[in-house]
Amino acid sequence: MTQRLGIIGFPIGHSISPIFQQAGLDHLGIDAPYEKWEVTTEGVGDFVAGLRAPGTLGINITVPHKQAVIPFLDEVDEWATAAGAVNTIVNRDGRLTGHNTDGPGFLRALLVETGYSPEGTRALVLGAGGAARGILLALARGGVESLVIANRTLERAETLAQLASENGVKAEAIPLSADALTQAAASAALIVNCTTMGMSHGPDERGSPLSTTQIPATAIVNDLVYNPMETPLLREAAAAGATTLGGLHMLVYQGVLSFQMWTGRDAPVDVMLAAAAKEMASRGA
Ligand code: NAP
Repeated sequence: MTQRLGIIGFPIGHSISPIFQQAGLDHLGIDAPYEKWEVTTEGVGDFVAGLRAPGTLGINITVPHKQAVIPFLDEVDEWATAAGAVNTIVNRDGRLTGHNTDGPGFLRALLVETGYSPEGTRALVLGAGGAARGILLALARGGVESLVIANRTLERAETLAQLASENGVKAEAIPLSADALTQAAASAALIVNCTTMGMSHGPDERGSPLSTTQIPATAIVNDLVYNPMETPLLREAAAAGATTLGGLHMLVYQGVLSFQMWTGRDAPVDVMLAAAAKEMASRGA
């Protein structure tokens, strides 16, 4: 029987999940078209109710419905509860469970691609928006020793530092200024960019939060920005001799973890990464 899978959001046209999920499904010979559905906020309840039908494996959820789906589920896992957001729904015999693979996908991408795991390390998080919040919680759950959160608007960094301490992690908020960043970067094992700096069509397309001289060669630098795939920060980090990882990896690995929950099979990660990179390249990224 053909099985049903896909992603909901509003808008949804830009999502590359259908491309790399389909590549993975096809590679394993699984008969399931991965669709995309543009669903309004008012339509979320009815849409989720329809997922209980036999043959539906589940869906991904993207902006702006990651919170809105929660009241319509039978159970929500620990990661999704901590994040207050669901990006994956699994249907098992009419019972719907909600999961969040963004944090685990971020950690898995770092572990597989760079060998980094957070236990006992010091990390520098750049930015204090939605992505930074999720990354901070993932690092806290992963056992990071301490965090520095740097943001243009200092109050937002302070709010996240408070959240980190509530989750048992020593955290300091600093402004996104050169002096403060130089000091914080010097002792960071991991630097994660969660700002929109360097993002195509964003507020500062050519900007990098750090320059080569501020980045230690021992650091791992992960830019969450994936369009372009090679960001200004990643260029600065590579010139400093640091280990670099682009945002496409987190995006694909969160999908890989969803894939495994739906199908019970090991996802063909390399096939999915290659499909995602090819698609981004075709979009000029
Ligand atoms: P958001 O909630 O809008 O937060 C934006 C952040 O960028 C804030 O910290 C903001 O600082 C900062 N910022 C914006 N313009 C800036 C500028 N000109 N100079 C310095 N800082 C600036 O966005 P988000 O949802 O967290 O997403 C952030 C980035 O992560 C986006 O590029 C997104 O595509 C990427 N992302 C990637 C993945 C992935 O899977 N790879 C997942 C999620 C997000 P203020 O607080 O001062 O405004």
